[in-house]
Amino acid sequence: MNLQKKLAVLADAAKYDASCASSGSIKRNSVSGKGVGSTTGGMGICHSYSPDGRCISLLKILLTNFCIYECSYCINRASSTVKRARFTVEEVVNLTLDFYKRNYIEGLFLSSGIIQSSDYTMEQLVNVAKTLRKTHDFRGYIHLKTIPDASPELLRLAGLYADRLSINIELPSKKSLALYAPEKNPTTINKSMGQLREHIDESKESRRNSKKITSTGMRKKTKATKLVYSPAGQSTQMIVGADTSSDAKILTLAHGLYGRYQMRRVYYSAFSPIPSSAELLPAQSPPLEREHRLYQADWLLRFYGFDVSEITEVDKSNTGQSGMLDLDIDPKLSWALHHRDLFPVDINRAPREMILRIPGVGTIGTGRIIKARQFRRLRFGDLVKCGVSVKRVGPFVQTADHNPQAYLLEQENLKQHFIKKSSPQLSLF
Ligand code: SF4
Repeated sequence: MNLQKKLAVLADAAKYDASCASSGSIKRNSVSGKGVGSTTGGMGICHSYSPDGRCISLLKILLTNFCIYECSYCINRASSTVKRARFTVEEVVNLTLDFYKRNYIEGLFLSSGIIQSSDYTMEQLVNVAKTLRKTHDFRGYIHLKTIPDASPELLRLAGLYADRLSINIELPSKKSLALYAPEKNPTTINKSMGQLREHIDESKESRRNSKKITSTGMRKKTKATKLVYSPAGQSTQMIVGADTSSDAKILTLAHGLYGRYQMRRVYYSAFSPIPSSAELLPAQSPPLEREHRLYQADWLLRFYGFDVSEITEVDKSNTGQSGMLDLDIDPKLSWALHHRDLFPVDINRAPREMILRIPGVGTIGTGRIIKARQFRRLRFGDLVKCGVSVKRVGPFVQTADHNPQAYLLEQENLKQHFIKKSSPQLSLF
């Protein structure tokens, strides 16, 4: 099979992996004339837009879609009749460099099916990253999807060359994993995530120690070699809708992963039915809106001070299943509508934590409100200057010149005001 055909097969096979954003790495470039490429320091690459509006991308491929495992939700499982292909290490290296020099990509996202053994496969992935960095001085972004039961030494090596590492948690429950991916072991997955976290922490510590305080109190870089291990941290991906796990279960697991392993991101990927899949699996994808609501809820957990139970306790969703997020409206609005007694919130007096809970007010808007109210009492029009959507906040805030009438908040059909006409669901691919 020629290279172009392999690329067609292995790029297509990689499309099911959602976890390839690229934020948070270190700055690395070739401005001095040395090396090839650069990372854009803190900006997203794959499926992301940089602050100046550029769409930036990764070469997102599998090393191979051959696999000895039999995960029933996966198109590449051993028994699948899908067309197979395999790159050599050199082919991936050359493709990456070639695409980079032509300005097609700004980095590489590399995953793989498992061939021969976990260690053998992991070694191939590490060799790609190592050759790019060591032989070609490649300074672009590299994200490696690691094999959880590969040896600790290979996982350690992977982080020395990659900007980000990820290990998929796959499914929200051990029971589902045993059912749909019997060769995968949740204990090993967690152990490997823990191991990555240890290396990442050590690396941060080493970088902190590489700057010492001089006698004059100034920070000075020492000559000690800094250990840079997976500077953009680790991430994971969970398939949503392949089993019956509720959103509450999914978010509780994600919350634990953020805490235990300092995940940079948990990605939620809506299950996509595959040809001749196992009978146990649903015949249809979950609504795409579910994936979207999970991302919104994830944001609320990380940046808005919500608990999982607060946003999933509302068992009045339109899904008919308990512990599910409302698909019609975002989880913050849903929470507010079920806690109307806490509103309207006085913008001029409320604590930061409460302002963050007002639908339509984000973290940036909250910061602006708190800063602005130090100088004067804010009026409703001032909220526009703070970047707040006044259409959304109207019923929920009180300002110097605005106090929503009680009947507005008490209206049974207030939710309907916020529901946009839904458009038909589009296919994922
Ligand atoms: S190990 Fe990965 S590639 Fe192989 S069947 Fe499972 S999910 Fe698919």
